[in-house]
Amino acid sequence: MERATAASPEPALETEVACPHCERSVTISRPDREADVTVRPYVAAYGSHSTVHCPAGHTFWVYDC
Ligand SMILES: [Zn+2]
Repeated sequence: MERATAASPEPALETEVACPHCERSVTISRPDREADVTVRPYVAAYGSHSTVHCPAGHTFWVYDC
């Protein structure tokens, strides 16, 4: 019998960021309410980041700082 991994009881936190390409607001889920985010139009090889797609089809990256 496998034991199911308990899901996190904390709800997803959402933050609005602006797309660096068209400045459109995009809502993203944030794992940590306290962390500040940095938006970059390119991916870097360091830090915790997530890929975001804006409604206009742009791709950018959000970093935890
Ligand atoms: Zn965009």
